[in-house]
Formats: sequence, structure tokens, C-alpha cells
Amino acid sequence: MTEQSFFPEGGLISVLTAEPIDRFLDYKAPEGGCFEGAFVEVPLGPRKVLGVVWGAGEGRFNPAKIRAATRVMDVAPMRTEMRDFLTRSGAYTLTPISQMLRLATRAPGLMSPPSMRKIYRLGTGTPDRVTDARTRVLQILKDHGGAAFTLKELATLADTGPTVVKGLVKQGVVQEFDAPRDVPFPTLDPNFGGIILSPEQAEASAALCASVETGRYNTTLLKGVTGSGKTETYMEAIATCLRKGRQALVLLPEIALTAEFLTRVQARFGARPAEWHSGVTMTDRRRTWRMVGEGGAELVVGARSALFLPFRDLGLIIVDEEHDGSYKQEEGVLYNARDMAVLRASLCSASVILASATPSLETWNNAQTGKYNRVNLTARYGVAEMPEMRAIDMRQEKLPASHWISPSLANAVETRMKAGEQALLFINRRGYAPTTVCRACGQQVGCDFCDARMVEHRFQNRLICHQCGESKPVPDTCPSCEVEGKMAPVGPGVERLAEEVAERFPDARVTTLSSDLFGSARALKERIESIAAGEADIIVGTQLVAKGHNFPHLTLVGVIDADLGLQGSDLRAAERTFQLMRQVAGRAGRSEKPGVAMLQTFQPEHPVIRAILSGDEEGFWRTECGERQQAAVPPFGRLAGIILSAEDAQQVFEFAGEMARRDGPLQSIGAQVFGPAPAPIARVRGRHRVRMLIKSDKSAPLQHAISQWVNQFRVPNAIRLAVDIDPVNFF
Ligand code: ADP
Ligand code: ZN
Repeated sequence: MTEQSFFPEGGLISVLTAEPIDRFLDYKAPEGGCFEGAFVEVPLGPRKVLGVVWGAGEGRFNPAKIRAATRVMDVAPMRTEMRDFLTRSGAYTLTPISQMLRLATRAPGLMSPPSMRKIYRLGTGTPDRVTDARTRVLQILKDHGGAAFTLKELATLADTGPTVVKGLVKQGVVQEFDAPRDVPFPTLDPNFGGIILSPEQAEASAALCASVETGRYNTTLLKGVTGSGKTETYMEAIATCLRKGRQALVLLPEIALTAEFLTRVQARFGARPAEWHSGVTMTDRRRTWRMVGEGGAELVVGARSALFLPFRDLGLIIVDEEHDGSYKQEEGVLYNARDMAVLRASLCSASVILASATPSLETWNNAQTGKYNRVNLTARYGVAEMPEMRAIDMRQEKLPASHWISPSLANAVETRMKAGEQALLFINRRGYAPTTVCRACGQQVGCDFCDARMVEHRFQNRLICHQCGESKPVPDTCPSCEVEGKMAPVGPGVERLAEEVAERFPDARVTTLSSDLFGSARALKERIESIAAGEADIIVGTQLVAKGHNFPHLTLVGVIDADLGLQGSDLRAAERTFQLMRQVAGRAGRSEKPGVAMLQTFQPEHPVIRAILSGDEEGFWRTECGERQQAAVPPFGRLAGIILSAEDAQQVFEFAGEMARRDGPLQSIGAQVFGPAPAPIARVRGRHRVRMLIKSDKSAPLQHAISQWVNQFRVPNAIRLAVDIDPVNFF
């Protein structure tokens, strides 16, 4: 740890606040002085705000006018490496540092003193009556030495209810204490559980553990088919990290996956880790944030923003399903958590494991060139095999109008049902129907605020805009020609497919899985468990089912529209379709019974569809890499998106035109500007959007040139400008 300077009371300090002022402010050190990195409360106008002591003050202002910081906050100071991380990630994404600090302090109550709550420890009494639940509670307390638990933790670990614990308290067997609310999380025992790894898994695990053991920065791609034991394997790397006394972070792409993951952590390490995502309560957020900084949380499982937690000694970051699009934050600070994980690890001498069955092309290429290590798991664990892949040529199938399940697919489903197995019908489209058309005038119903069609959601009985969330009732009268009773849905969404399934297979137990249909992560988790337990014959689902769930009875996957993702002109259309189809197919045949994946397609000869069917993954990546290299696009060149938006279309177009004309700083690094052009979604929430795309060589100092370029202009207040470095979605 580097030496931190100390500033005696009254000494000049430079403070960064999370307020939207784009510079550091000078203050005098508070009473008692403060260390560099300390969280302090400072006066700002009439308010008191949170800030971090970034270093010595610059003394550029009249010293008599400089105000004093009010006090030092009772939280662990921000470490040098965290400050470096915020500086570097801000510079990379062209985000003001104050906004980066906001990202790093998103926990409630950082400015308030610690509050109290009840905790539980082993007491001295003996219970009047011994029950299984009571024995489990006592065993947990004994297993964890003198550790204290919250009521919820103890009850969950013992798989019982709070009343059992309370009963033991009454008899003095368990003691109840008042303690600061933010208590350390239960310690994890690296030797608690563990399974016997297959020889291939053991080899992979040894390589990962050795990387962690070095205590130096490194990144490894853990490539393994779904069900090959990637999770089991990287758990061993976590164990190594914990044994070294360092902290670990696991990023998951979907909150719905955390529940299953927490259970697996408990089985492996005897206790549950800290959690960090939008479903976590404010109290737990605050506890996690503080304990991560004090070393009272050894393992955090969370969403991308967990990357900005103030870890005391982070030794390992795992990015599970690293190819997943949700790692890219598309609002506020536009960052890619996968790339920022690598940056953070390089600053704190940690290892990164990027796990995926279908890695992103960037990662695959980094492993090819030796920038990352690569570890492979080629076989599914146990007897399970990868499913057989087949195409259904839709040009040969006879289908009535408004039906999407081909006779071939329907036959296959029936066969599975007779055998008592499950089938999954996949469509990557939420809602009932993607368009609502008037049969009299042919007009589609669009959103009033966006250039997007309204999607019918029959479950909620409304039309919803997937861009801005605006909704309205399904109209009876056409908004254009005012003819009544002619509005009709066109095309399938998951809800409509479910309707067809119910009609086609009246005796089947059908379950629909789509993110709209669940109010809570808990409800979704229960549904997923019931499917895993075999309580459904046919599952109809969106993207949501493609991610990581384990359905042992599932042996058939039918993809309703394999061509869907190929239509865009997006740089990543091929890559995405390939990943998604392989992921979905990977759901079939995860236990003893072999699986089949059937892809309904109108273009079975398409190179991407053929690559999916043949399973020649390395061949696909090589071809795709070749094409990107030819076009000098990522990962062989660099891209940045510039999105300008305003309510006034003419104003935003003129301003963008002006920017494009004065592109000297970009030209000086040999970068090209494409556009301005209307963004693919040209209007969102009533704002007109114009996009420019900047393309440069891989080695060009792109960020520097862009900020010089942008700084030439005074952006009018009515115009919003966003810079998206390494754009993932082109909307
Ligand atoms: P992946 O993360 O690659 O999809 P998992 O680690 O989830 O694979 O493993 C798939 C399933 O196989 C899980 O239920 C897991 O517990 C089980 N499994 C994997 N390896 C082993 C092993 N060596 N011993 C017992 N079960 C295993
Ligand atoms: Zn809209």
C-alpha cells in the first residue's frame, strides 16, 4: 500500500465531490486533520456534500476565502488504486470524474453515523427440546466460531424461520446483541464443500488457481460449453483467492441468476456472499459498500456496478457470460463492465476470469493474440452431450396464416411429451405482437414520442413502446383513418406464441418465461425452479431462458425464428445470432437424455446459420475476425458513437453538421467521421437523435482527439451530447 499523505487541520486539500462541477475544489482540512483519500463532508454553497480528499490543495484562490471541510466521514478512505481507477475509467469513457465518483458512492447513508441492529451469537444455555431446525441453527453458529449473524442470515443458513432462532434466544441458547447495522458478512470457508473435478476440469482449475496465486494482474478466457462446469471450476479460483486473504467479485449478467448462484456459493463455502444489484435493499447496499471497504465482505456477487465498490484488496474478478450485452451500460456513464474489470484488475494486481460458452469476438481475439490466457472445457460434465443441431427449412413447411410452429417442430414436441421430457420454444421477442396494423388503411400504431412501433402486450392489455416505456390501451378505432374494429396484431411475440402452443397442444402444461411477466426476481426464481423440477411440458420463452439456467428434463429446443437477429446491418449481428443460438441450444440435454435443437429458418444456407449448425465455433470466429479485419472495425480498429439529441430536429442537425465540418482534431489522428445521420431510432421520448460514427486505427489516441474536437464547440443547453466509446448497440 502506498504511503498516504496526512493533512493537518487547516492545511489546504483538494476535494472531489460528486456534484456536477467539473473540477476539484480547495478546502482546509477539518478539525483533527485528514488523510489523502478520506471521505469528508464539505460546505458547498448553502449545502453540505460528500467529497473525497484527492491530494494537496492548489492554493490558487485567496486563502482567506477558502472554507474548511466540516468533518471526516466514518468510512474507509478511498484507496489510491480506486482513485486511479476512477480517473482512468473516466478518461477512457470520456466521463467527468465527478460523475465517476457518483458511480462509486451509490450507497445510502454514507454521511450518516452507523445505525444499530440485532445480531445473534452462540449463548451458554441448553435448549428444553431438540428439533432438527434448532440443531441446524446451533451447528451453523458452532461452525462459524464466534461469528455473529443477522436474524435473516442465520435463519437462511439454517434453512428455517426466524421464530426458531427467537425461541432459542428466549432460552439463552442463542444470545441477541445490539451491534452497528453494518456488521461483517459471515466468513467463507474455502475448504467447506467442493466436488471432485473431472480430469479436464481439474486441469482448467489448476491453471486458474495458478493465475490467482501469482498475485499479479492477468486475464484468462474460460471457454467451455454450457454445462461443462465453468462455474464449478472458477469456484476453485475463488477459493484460492480467499485463502490468500484477498477479496473476490463475481459479475453476473442477470439478477435472476443470482439466487441459484448464492445457493452454490453456500454449498461450496458454507455461507452466502454479499450481493450488489438493483434488487438489494438500501440497508444491505449500505452494509455491502461499507464492509467491502473494511474487508468485512470476502466475496461480492453482483451486477456491473459492483465494479465500482471500494474493495480493500480485490484479488479476483469473474465476469460470467462475458459476451452478454448487459455488461454494457447504455445510460449515464457509457461503460463496458467487462473491459473496466480488466482495467481495474490491472491497477490492483488482480486476476480476471472471463467465462463464456460463446465469448465475444474481442475476447476470443485477445486470447488468440496471447493478450489473455485461455483455458478450455470441451466436454459437458458427466454423460451429458451437446445437443444435435438441425435446421427446419421453412420454405418447405406448410403453415396457416398467423401460425409459427412448423409441422416438423410440432411433431418433435409431441414426441418429447410422450417420452415425459420437456421442450423449449424460443422466440426473442417480448409481448404479444410486434406490430398492430389497421386492416382498413394499413397504418401501424407507432409511439407518439419515438420512431418506434408500439408492441402489444396482451397480458397487460396495452400497447407498449419498448424505447421509452410509454403505453396506451389497444385502440378499437384506427388512430389514422378512424375506422372501427379493424385493428389487428401482426407477427409473433412470446405471448402470442404461448397462445399458439396452448391451442396446438391442449393437454400440455405450458409455462411462459419473459421478463414482463414477473413482478419480482423471487417469482421468477420460483418459476425457474418449478421448471427444473419438471412441472412443465413446454416452456415458451425469450432471451431470459438463454442465460445459464439448468433444466435437467429439457431435451428439445425449438427456435421459432433463427433469422431474426441476422436482419440488422449491425456490426455484431452475426456474432450475436451465433452466440444466442448456441446459448439457447445449450439448454437442451443437460443431463442423461440427449438433446436436439431445431432452428426454423428461411435461409438455411446463410453462413451464420451453417456455422451454428455445424458447431465449428473456432471456424466461425476465424471467419468473422477475417471480415472485421478487412473492414478495419473492432477489434481491429476503433469506433466511437456520438449521439446528439434535441427536441428541435433542425437545430440538432445543424449543430451536428457544424461539428462534422470542423473535424480537424479527428483528422489529425487519421480518424474518419461518418454522418451526421438520423440515429437508427431517430426519435426517443420526443427528442430527435442524430448520430455520427468515428472510426480510427486501433493505435490512434481516439479519446484525446474526440475531447479536443468536442471542446471546440459550446453545446447549446437544448442539445444533449453523448460519446459512446466502443459502442455495442447501434441505436
Ligand atoms: P457451466 O457453468 O459451464 O454451465 P456448471 O458449473 O454450472 O457448468 O456445471 C453444470 C452442472 O454440472 C452443475 O449442476 C454442476 O453442479 C454439475 N457439475 C459440473 N462439474 C461437476 C463435477 N465435477 N462433479 C459434480 N457435478 C458437477
Ligand atoms: Zn416511445
